[in-house]
Amino acid sequence: MRDVTAYATAGPKAPFEKTTIQRRDLGPSDVLIEIAYAGICHSAIHTAREEWGEAIFPLVPGHEIAGTVAEIGSAVTRYQVGDRVGVGCMVDSCRECENCLAGEEQYCLNGNFGTYNAIFKDARPTEGGYSSHIVVDQDFVLDIPQGISLDVAAPLLCAGITLYSPLKHWGAGPGKRVAIVGLGGLGHMGVKIAHALGAEVTVLSQTLSKQQDGLRLGADHYYATSDEDTFDKLAGSFDLIVNTVSASLPMDRYLSLLRLDGALVNVGAPPEPQSVSAFTLIGSRRSWAGSMIGGIAQTQEMLDFCAEHGLGAEIELIGAEQIDEAYDRVVGSDVRYRFVIDAATF
Ligand code: NAP
Ligand code: ZN
Ligand code: ZN
Repeated sequence: MRDVTAYATAGPKAPFEKTTIQRRDLGPSDVLIEIAYAGICHSAIHTAREEWGEAIFPLVPGHEIAGTVAEIGSAVTRYQVGDRVGVGCMVDSCRECENCLAGEEQYCLNGNFGTYNAIFKDARPTEGGYSSHIVVDQDFVLDIPQGISLDVAAPLLCAGITLYSPLKHWGAGPGKRVAIVGLGGLGHMGVKIAHALGAEVTVLSQTLSKQQDGLRLGADHYYATSDEDTFDKLAGSFDLIVNTVSASLPMDRYLSLLRLDGALVNVGAPPEPQSVSAFTLIGSRRSWAGSMIGGIAQTQEMLDFCAEHGLGAEIELIGAEQIDEAYDRVVGSDVRYRFVIDAATF
């Protein structure tokens, strides 16, 4: 075991505080990563505040990790010391079930191991990226291409892949009209990626306050959902809607914006159940679906795609002492568009 610095919260209402945690000794296929940046995802807030249920405390969140390889285990072949790497939401999975074998480790039938707030194979809780170092099996480490700097790459490891995966799965591309609901961490990556894939992109945000940004990021159209006319105007117009909102929405209103055979995909994960009328779906053979991050191979594909298209996150770099403040600002939709913690301040 080695001691490393981290920022942990002791409970759902407790502030983040500097602490020391232990990382395991390197196994043959493990990589020790010196973390440079860690993004703040809304999922960490849901978890830390126990909005999704009980969490394991003290909790060290962080699943948007970018850094460099500091040491490698004896059997590591994929990485060398000094390589630029990332870690996302999973640090291992069963590797045997049909979903793992299909490269969809995020849907591991035996449960993948989350980067934090999970009990790992060694029976210890996993601890995430709000930390100076992390030890991860090489198969769950991603290669960050040279074209993307580490600070703007970190959020790609969750926000990037969470949007890339459904956009690819539901065929976003030329001739497709795609709406992104919510211009936050996930949403802004959705706009960039959907635009780069060649789709016609519309942002549906609560207000027009971020309209200039949305258009600059690649949106063709931008509407405020607080404007009653928006839903009438856009009825039946989208092939695909990706809903990134962290709170419950009136789903029937959003589903009614889909054309025949359109799909609304929830990536936002509000704690409360949401309801929908069957008539909204059957009337235009619409689907209401969900999607969770992406597999390891697809995450690498997304990073390569982002490098090729010059895409990174729009970030606000903060120090470790600002985590609590950043959490409150994310909850208040006051984020442009991802907070990233500078690990030098841990
Ligand atoms: P975020 O940065 O807070 O973005 C969410 C955006 O939703 C806000 O910026 C805001 O955009 C909009 N919004 C917030 N509250 C709203 C409300 N009451 N009504 C309407 N719109 C509202 O959060 P994020 O990090 O992108 O994460 C978003 C959600 O996705 C969270 O629930 C998170 O847990 C989940 N998530 C899921 C996955 C997955 O694999 N499926 C992965 C990561 C995160 P506007 O100001 O533009 O309206
Ligand atoms: Zn996340
Ligand atoms: Zn599995």
